[in-house]
Amino acid sequence: REKAIIIGAGIAGLATAIRLQSANFDVEVFETNPSAGGKLAEIREKGYRFDCGPSLFTMPQFIEELFTISSKPMSAYFSYVKKETVCNYFYEDDTRFTAHADIDKFAMSAAEAFEVEAQTIKDYFDSSKKKFDLTSSLFLEKSLHKLNTYLSSDTIKAITNVGQLDIGATLHKVNSKKFKDRRLVQFFDRFATYNGSNPYKTPGIMSMIPHLEQYYGTFFPEGGMYSIAHSLYRLAQDLGVVFNFNAKVTQIAVANNSAEGVFVGEKRIDADVVVSNMDIVPTYRKLLPDCKAPEKTLQQPRSSSALIFYWGIKGTFPELDLHNIFFSENYKEEFDCIFTRKEVGNDPTIYINITSKNEPNDAPEGCENWFVMINVPGNQGQDWDGIITTAKKNILQKLSRILQRDIEQIIETESILDPRTIEERTQSYQGSLYGSSSNNKYAAFLRHPNFSQQIKKLYFCGGSVHPGGGIPLCLLSGKIVAELISKDTKK
Ligand code: FAD
Repeated sequence: REKAIIIGAGIAGLATAIRLQSANFDVEVFETNPSAGGKLAEIREKGYRFDCGPSLFTMPQFIEELFTISSKPMSAYFSYVKKETVCNYFYEDDTRFTAHADIDKFAMSAAEAFEVEAQTIKDYFDSSKKKFDLTSSLFLEKSLHKLNTYLSSDTIKAITNVGQLDIGATLHKVNSKKFKDRRLVQFFDRFATYNGSNPYKTPGIMSMIPHLEQYYGTFFPEGGMYSIAHSLYRLAQDLGVVFNFNAKVTQIAVANNSAEGVFVGEKRIDADVVVSNMDIVPTYRKLLPDCKAPEKTLQQPRSSSALIFYWGIKGTFPELDLHNIFFSENYKEEFDCIFTRKEVGNDPTIYINITSKNEPNDAPEGCENWFVMINVPGNQGQDWDGIITTAKKNILQKLSRILQRDIEQIIETESILDPRTIEERTQSYQGSLYGSSSNNKYAAFLRHPNFSQQIKKLYFCGGSVHPGGGIPLCLLSGKIVAELISKDTKK
């Protein structure tokens, strides 16, 4: 059996480990943290439990696939429920809108809340689906950097229908053309943030994202988001993957243009193939000091980062559910702040995630665990302590006004995550959530490939390489890498 080393036990590293071990490799994972999951981590404090990173779970079929290929029953490791209420939206003009999973219910509520016909909403989702169906196999399921990908019938179909993909316009332009009501435009513009991008810059093809949420649904994993990482870790262990925690890889061993293993401090561990789940920028800068880095790729602008307050709240809010959005008044200004001025404005859109709505054990009785997040620029040395103080004041004012309760008075516990700590804990360059941003139409092609073009037997998975960030795409990067490795080692 051939041996594969994986650097990092993030969600993509775990998926790659499971796939390679199932394909008869001996897999060994080196992870610098004391546990698996990377950005999927949790905090436990005074009877509260918080998921630290991702909070929205979509496309569970990619998790299920990992159990299927391993011939293990998923039910022994992992379960989830579908959400009927997708998200509650609060606007500054007092509009409240609940996005329902059922498309008819969604379109009807939208027609009541906004100036729009239910059918116009349905037409938007139809065109969103068309974009996804035309491009998913090209952009999400294959390496974009192998010639074979361009010779497939799927690619030819996508190219023939390129006019329907809205690549030339921005997402905001596409939405403004479709809807007159600016609240609805803001609603559909927000999907750009699902990969950390700017709706005023990202191409209109991103209007396929609402289809994923609406058609495939949104889900809650029992035990919270962290249980996704924990159950994949258990599955990998049961398959025989060897994990080394508190084991920071310091260099990739390369000879004759071929990866031969890794160094953990002074210790060298040999392997037939090496996969890096570490962010692509520090992989080159720290682990491959003698390799010429692909500067153009590494200098792509990064996706947004986040500032999150984890608040134990002594009280309950029936008007809130698992996902809640409090929109800013001026969305354009908010994104100019984040992506152009690299600042945090005074009226950011606030996202509150409350897992205790689904998992009562996540907070003491009569309390809720609030994950309160705003989008912020990546870490470029801003005065984060000052930003945190101002943002907290603004967030508390906005939430207290809209929810008509003095929120500060009922905060029982507080932890904070900011771009500096995201970078420190996961090595994600500038603390970006999704690798590089998709703020131009070539972004998909500018992401780093899933393999090295200079060093044989070296591969890359995770949110900073193709096909991109977010749990579903990271899981797909693991699939692409495992398929490339299996093909390459058969040659
Ligand atoms: P990571 O999770 O970053 O894992 C990389 C791992 O490599 C880490 O464990 C790190 O410690 C390890 N490592 C790095 N360097 C070394 C080294 N030298 N040696 C050994 N180990 C090393 N996605 C969604 O789908 N839905 C959401 O709602 C969502 N919200 C988010 C909110 C926040 C606050 C954050 C931070 C992210 C969010 N995301 C969301 C994005 C999602 O979390 C990421 O895209 C995904 O988890 C990235 O996984 P990964 O495997 O690429 O990398």
